[in-house]
Amino acid sequence: MGEQPSAKSNKAAKGASAKPAGAKAASAKPAGGKPADAGPAAGSATKSTGAKRPKTAKPESRLAMVRRARRINRELADVYPYAHPELDFRDPFELLVATVLSAQTTDLRVNQTTPALFAKYPTPEDMAAAVPEELEQVIRPTGFFRAKARSLIGLSTALRDRYDGEVPGTLKDLVTLPGVGRKTANVVLGNAFGVPGLTVDTHFGRLVRRWKWTDQEDPEKVEAEIAAIFPKSEWTMLSHRIIFHGRRVCHSRKPACGACPIAHLCPSYGEGETDPEKARKLLKYEMGGYPGQRLSPPPDYPGKPAPPLGTPAGAE
Ligand code: SF4
Repeated sequence: MGEQPSAKSNKAAKGASAKPAGAKAASAKPAGGKPADAGPAAGSATKSTGAKRPKTAKPESRLAMVRRARRINRELADVYPYAHPELDFRDPFELLVATVLSAQTTDLRVNQTTPALFAKYPTPEDMAAAVPEELEQVIRPTGFFRAKARSLIGLSTALRDRYDGEVPGTLKDLVTLPGVGRKTANVVLGNAFGVPGLTVDTHFGRLVRRWKWTDQEDPEKVEAEIAAIFPKSEWTMLSHRIIFHGRRVCHSRKPACGACPIAHLCPSYGEGETDPEKARKLLKYEMGGYPGQRLSPPPDYPGKPAPPLGTPAGAE
């Protein structure tokens, strides 16, 4: 925390600092106090004139919502061309373990913990044979370490005994492993096997509801509704883009609406800080000039790598 914005700026960060998207949104803001083409939930103004909409204005049609959703996806792709899973991993087993560890903690904390973990237990066979107390101590920084150690030993034992020490590449098999739910399975499928999957985590659910793509709360229902809006080929990258945006801009308690590159498409603009200067200060990771969550980010990541365990943490 507390590092100054990096000179190694990226497209998105440039957008946020030199020309905050929120500034555009703010200037385009009609009398209703919402961005111009944010749809019916944008309140009471029309796009071109800023005139009041009649109170009988129809709700956004499904077709219009789908078009807006796909446009948001395209614009997020421009903002985050480098979107990626934020867990460090070298193979499906490491991603599976890291994803299990990521429950109730940050990806940063997991990434700071897994180098020592995989040095000590590099294979499912090694982890299945771990002394529980020793494993617990290694993964202690991730929290809930007793339950997580049980899951890791259980899933490693299942991999060893039922899958020849290999991580299976189907949802049906993955969810039979201890500690592995649908979300974890989709992360592994999408990022280690190239099988399209939607990762409905807390960020994903919050953002798609703010964007009025769905009003469902149950992750499985959210997944089904979003799956119906986008082609399968988009699912994995869409998940990364949404989660990137949720972590950097559209935060749970203080969304940075005034610096949000897609504010003009968002029916919930104004739920957070709309002043561009104040909003820019809320941006996190590379958008705010801070280190990312991965100690070994992909080469195209424009931010700084996360620090190892014991170093003052970056923004979360
Ligand atoms: S920060 Fe979130 S709520 Fe605010 S305009 Fe952007 S997407 Fe909408």
